[in-house]
Amino acid sequence: MNTQDIVSAVEAVQAAILANEAHIESLDRAIGDGDHFINVRRGCEAIVAMRPELSQLPPAAAFERIGMKLLSTIGGASGPLIASFFMSMGRELAGIEQPDTREFAQALAAGVEAIKKRGKADVGEKTMLDVLIPTSRLLQRLAAEGADRESLCMKIKQEAEANMLATRDMIATKGRAHFLGERALGHIDPGAKTSQVAVFAVCDMLTE
Ligand code: ADP
Ligand code: MG
Ligand code: MG
Repeated sequence: MNTQDIVSAVEAVQAAILANEAHIESLDRAIGDGDHFINVRRGCEAIVAMRPELSQLPPAAAFERIGMKLLSTIGGASGPLIASFFMSMGRELAGIEQPDTREFAQALAAGVEAIKKRGKADVGEKTMLDVLIPTSRLLQRLAAEGADRESLCMKIKQEAEANMLATRDMIATKGRAHFLGERALGHIDPGAKTSQVAVFAVCDMLTE
C-alpha cells in the first residue's frame, strides 16, 4: 500500500457514500440529528481536495494529515472519532514506506482502538465500532494467515455487513441514539452503515 492507494481508497469511499446518501440520511434522521451523511461527505471532500499535498507524503504522514484535516472539517460526535482513527493509523505506520497487508491490518487495529478510547465505547453499543472492531479483528487474523486478497476481501465484506445489520437490534448506550432507549430498536446505526459502506468500497477497489 502506498499513498496513491490511500487517495484512491478515499475517492472510492466518497463515491460509495454519495451513492448511499438517502439511506444514510434516513438512518441519522431516525435515531440521530440527520447530519451524519453531510458530516461524512464533508470529510471525504476535504481529503480528496488534499490530493496534491498527500501524494508527496509517505502513508504515515498522509494518514496524520488526513486526521488533522478531519478534526477541523467534520463536526459532531463522529468528527473527532474518525480523526483519531486516521491519526493513530499514521502513528502506527511511522517509518514504514510501503505497508504490507499485515502492517496495514495492525495500523487499522490501532485506529479502531483510538476510536474506542476517545468514544469510551465498545462492541454492542450501537455505534460504528460494531462494524469496525470485528472487521478489524478479522482482517488481522486473515492477514496473519496470509489469505489471498480475493477471499480476504469477500470475508471482510461479509463480516462488515452482518455486523452493520446487527446494530438494528441493539439499544444504544453511546451517542445521540442512547436518548431514545428502546425506540432506537429496528434502526441500523448510521455510523455502522457508513463504516460498512466504506469497507465495501475499499474491498471492491482492491479486487476490481
Ligand atoms: P452527531 O451524533 O454528533 O450528529 P454524526 O451524526 O456524524 O454525529 O455521527 C453519529 C455516529 O457516531 C453514530 O451513528 C455512531 O456510530 C457514532 N458514535 C456516536 N458516539 C460514539 C461513541 N461514543 N463511540 C463511537 N461511535 C460513536
Ligand atoms: Mg448526527
Ligand atoms: Mg450532529
